[in-house]
Formats: sequence, C-alpha cells, structure tokens
Amino acid sequence: MLLASRLVLGHSHAISGAFAWAALAPTLPPIWLHTTLSAHDVIVGTALAAGAALIPDLDHHGGTIANALGPVTKVLTRFVERVSGGHRHATHSLLFAAAAGGGSWAGVHYLGRYFAVGVTFVLLALAGIALHLHPGGDGVRAWGPVVIAATLGTAMIDQWLPDEPVWLPWLVGFGCLVHLAGDFMTERGVPLLWPIKMRFEIPLISRTGNRVEVWVVSPLMSVGTVAALYVLTIAPR
Ligand SMILES: [Zn+2]
Repeated sequence: MLLASRLVLGHSHAISGAFAWAALAPTLPPIWLHTTLSAHDVIVGTALAAGAALIPDLDHHGGTIANALGPVTKVLTRFVERVSGGHRHATHSLLFAAAAGGGSWAGVHYLGRYFAVGVTFVLLALAGIALHLHPGGDGVRAWGPVVIAATLGTAMIDQWLPDEPVWLPWLVGFGCLVHLAGDFMTERGVPLLWPIKMRFEIPLISRTGNRVEVWVVSPLMSVGTVAALYVLTIAPR
C-alpha cells in the first residue's frame, strides 16, 4: 500500500495523456506541427496519446505495461531497464522525451507509413493494457485480447492516417512529458535533467494517496477528455 501510494497508476498516466492531447493539441500552433490538425487527427491522437504517456515506464520489467505485448515487451523492458540505469532514470528525463520525439520524427520522415502504423499498434497496446481493456488476469489472458484489440484498432486508424503524419512525433514527445509531469508529483520524483542525477519532485500524490487519484482525478480527466472532444468535433456543427 505504501509502495502503491508513491506511484502514479498506469491507467492514470494513460488517461492524463489522452486528456492533455484532447485539451491542448487543438491549441498548438500549426507552425510547430507543420500542419493544422483535423478533428480526425485529434480523435486518433487522443487514443495514441494514452499509450504515449506510458513510454517512459518501458524501463520497468515488473510493471503492468511490461505485459502489453507478452514476451516481446518483457524482453524489451528488461533491456531498457538495464541500459537506462533502472526504473525512473534515463527514460524519465527531458532528454529522453526529446529523443523519443526526434526518433519518431526520423522514423516518420524516412520510413513513412510503415513506421507510423507500427507505432500506432504499440501505442494502442500500451494504452489497452494500462486501461485494463481485457478480461483480467496476467499473462496471455491479458495480453492476448490486448494484441487483438490493438490490431483491429490499428487497421481502423490506418484508414485515416495520412502518409506522413507529421504530428505523430510531437504526440510521442508530448506523451513522455505528460508522464514526467505525473511522476514529478510523487515522492521519488524524476531526474528531469538526466544525465545530471538530481531528482525533481512535488510529492502531491504521496499526500493524497491513490484513492483521490482513482476516484477523483482520473474520473475528472476522463470527463474532461470527452468534453474536449465534444467541443472540438460535435459542438461546432
Ligand atoms: Zn514513470
């Protein structure tokens, strides 16, 4: 319980990523994004941002999202944990957020659609496992349905994705930043300026406990996400 109260839950990270994208993406200047976001981009991006806000926790082999793609993410998280210095080290920094965004830019720019579709699949799987969009349990009972749902979701989104979704790298970097903001509010904080080891924190969550997070903050962000998408897509008509 003590340990749990020091962490932001996976589903809170996912919901905060979705909420932040739905609320803020339409306000980002087109000159940053190199495009004007359509309503489709924002809706698709909201689902993908839920996954992007989990990327920094790929450094935690014992976490929920290590089970997103079964053995693949188990091996990947062990590898990332080892090379990044352990949970909440290199991947919880501004440098990593920039590298994730920059790497995604290179992927979208040089590999184009294949890369974008692959990233879409991974982000949907991360969101699915964190939001518990499966019948429950561990192992294949959890990741099997998540992989099927992510495959179907990717096939749907593939219809709408432009050939070079220039907003996708921004979304990846943005999701990482939202994750850092969440962990920043917990006791261990985050090494924002890594490789400088100093950790930054305003531990609000350790004081309020997970109950406030689960019963107040997450529901409010969920309602906020739906409201933001409503204002963007339905209200103008
Ligand atoms: Zn984290």
